[in-house]
This record gives sequence, structure tokens and C-alpha cells, in this order.
Amino acid sequence: MGSLMDTQIMNIVDQPQSLEISNIPSETVGDVHVDHPRMTARNVNVFYGDKCAIDDVTLDIAEKQVISFIGPSGCGKSTFLRCLNRMNDTIDTCRIEGTIALDGQDIYAPHVDVVPLRARVGMVFQKPNPFPKSIYDNVAYGPRIHGLASRRAELDDIVENSLVRAGLWDEVKDRLGQPGTGLSGGQQQRLCIARAIAVSPEVILMDEPCSALDPIATARIEELIHELSTEFTIVIVTHSMQQAARVSQRTAYFHLGKLVEVGETEQIFTKPQHEMTHNYITGRFG
Ligand code: ADP
Repeated sequence: MGSLMDTQIMNIVDQPQSLEISNIPSETVGDVHVDHPRMTARNVNVFYGDKCAIDDVTLDIAEKQVISFIGPSGCGKSTFLRCLNRMNDTIDTCRIEGTIALDGQDIYAPHVDVVPLRARVGMVFQKPNPFPKSIYDNVAYGPRIHGLASRRAELDDIVENSLVRAGLWDEVKDRLGQPGTGLSGGQQQRLCIARAIAVSPEVILMDEPCSALDPIATARIEELIHELSTEFTIVIVTHSMQQAARVSQRTAYFHLGKLVEVGETEQIFTKPQHEMTHNYITGRFG
């Protein structure tokens, strides 16, 4: 799993720190750019009515890598995550400025249809939300609406393959016709991950995917995130710094709508450059 051990985080918590909180930097500290970006956000502002929730964020999301968004509650992590597949379009008061591109193409361009976009940039939510359908139909839903299988056998293959990759096949192969809602919480979340990967997305957005799960189910999902990162680009919002350290290669720290610092996960947790990042990871606030 991740290279950073929990003990390293614990060690830094024990070090004496200055309590002073300096101003949020006008420019993000660390390198916001990467060599092989799958998504790029440039000067993104997000408003809910008059309230600014994201303030001038520029960030590249590297392909086939896990990036974590961390920061105190209300700092804009979920808002920014939802911008990446236009989930905020459903909120009337929400207005977005700046540019977000997937493989160089502006996802907010007028001609872009959000349905295929959300297949390319899938989402897994905080609370597992299987459809009130069978396990099979939950996974087959996306491939059916996107016309990915012309024959039943093809659809069966996609369903099996997605459940295998989500680490759920062995547990459900004999009861594919049973309701998805009948599974345990951890299994339901893996079913939702299977549903997301069934349409072969390029990017998977995860909004605190383990916060409703017990530690064993959480460990299973974290393992899965690690496995899936060889194939998919993953962006995860988490309130658990240990989780960010375990699953991600890159970490972005948000505060009051600003992207304060971004860097390699190990660097963020052991040698943060900005004092606010330092204060947050050492438990001074948040
Ligand atoms: P985080 O994920 O870091 O907890 P959010 O992105 O949920 O933060 O919220 C950022 C800010 O935007 C908060 O002040 C929150 O109250 C506000 N906000 C989030 N969603 C909405 C909404 N649908 N309408 C109005 N304000 C919102």
C-alpha cells in the first residue's frame, strides 16, 4: 500500500509547533503541474450565490495516480471534486468560472453532453447508493444506457469483469439476481465502484468513500483504490489524513476555498512547506 507509515504522521504530531497561523498564500505552494495530466483545472472559482467556495484553484490531475484532497470541513474539497464531472450543474445557485479540461478538452464547453462526460469521469459517493435493482442490473445499468454491449453474453462479461475488479465477484456470483441494497455497507460500496468502472471511465471521483464504513470494510476499499490506480486516475476526498497517506501518491491541501499546498503525499505529511498545511496535519485546526 502507501509508502508512508502511520507512525511517521504520529511522529510529526509530537513535534513542538508554532501556533501562529499565517495568511493563506495567494499562490499555491508546491507544483500544481504534472508531466502527464489527465485533467487540468485553471483559475477555477466556484460560487454558491454570492458566496465564493473555491477561489482561483489551478491544479493538474495526473493520469493513473491517486490524488487526495484534504482540509478542514467546509474548505471546498467536495465542491471542487464535483466540478470535475459537472455534478454541481444540478445546483441552481452554483456558478463556475475558469477552465476544467479532460484530455485537453474543456468539459464546460457548450456542446459537451454531461451524460457521456459522467461515464468518463465516474463518481463514488460518501454513502453507498446502489439502485433499487439486482446486483447484476446495478452493474449492467451504465453499459446498457451507453450501449456498450450488443449481446447479453457481452453484458455478462462486463458485469463479471467489473465485479472481479471491484473485488466483489466471489461474494456475489451466486446471487446476482438479488437486490444490491441487501449487501453489507462495504459490499454496497464495492458494488458502486463496480458500477462506476463498468463503463470504463478514465477518472473516478470518490467523495469520502469510506466514511460510512467500518474499519475492515474501509481497509478493503483502500486496498481496492490502490489496485485500481494502475488502471484509472482516482481523485479522493478524505477527512482521514491516515487514509490520504495510505492510498494516494499526491495530496492537495485546501483551506477556505484556496488550494494552499500540493505535493507528493510523503512530502506533504513529513515536510509540508506551508505553515497552514503543517498546522492542519499536526492537528492544530480542522
Ligand atoms: P468540504 O467538502 O471541504 O467539507 P464543501 O465543498 O462541501 O466543503 O463546502 C464548501 C463551502 O460551500 C461551505 O461553506 C459549504 O457550506 C458551501 N456549500 C457546499 N454546498 C453548497 C450548496 N449546495 N449550496 C450552498 N453552499 C454550499
